[in-house]
Amino acid sequence: MIKVGILNLTPEGKIFEGTENSDILEIKNTEFIKCPNEIDFFLKVYSVNNGVLVEGKAETILVCKCGKCLSEYNYKLKNEEICHFYENPASSELDLTDDIREDILIKFPMKLRCSENCRGICPECGQNLNVSNCSCSGKNNDDDIWKELDKIKF
Ligand SMILES: [Zn+2]
Ligand SMILES: [Zn+2]
Repeated sequence: MIKVGILNLTPEGKIFEGTENSDILEIKNTEFIKCPNEIDFFLKVYSVNNGVLVEGKAETILVCKCGKCLSEYNYKLKNEEICHFYENPASSELDLTDDIREDILIKFPMKLRCSENCRGICPECGQNLNVSNCSCSGKNNDDDIWKELDKIKF
């Protein structure tokens, strides 16, 4: 849980930084996404009119598997624009866990790619085309182009 004490806060703010077990993200490990690393957070907590303002960033490193070439890569899941206002908190401590979880999960990757220009694996021989070409890759590409053209003509 990520909790911050809010007694004696000032308008100048107080820094809370640390690490938290990534279990709080409730990411289920799958073949394609694993979340083995801790969350690093750096938060600044201010006393403001009628409440408390929390700003900062949090990040963790996912281990993903590329959906195209099936190689593993690290993905930095981070939110540097965390900003929450809590109106007149009733207790001396704020539990930020749920809000930080959402802040991080909103940055979840839309698709699993080791890089923007991943070339994938050859469907014929299974060669990872990011590593090297294979003798059949040229032929396959031509086939694909003709298939696309056929669709357009029709
Ligand atoms: Zn890839
Ligand atoms: Zn091939």
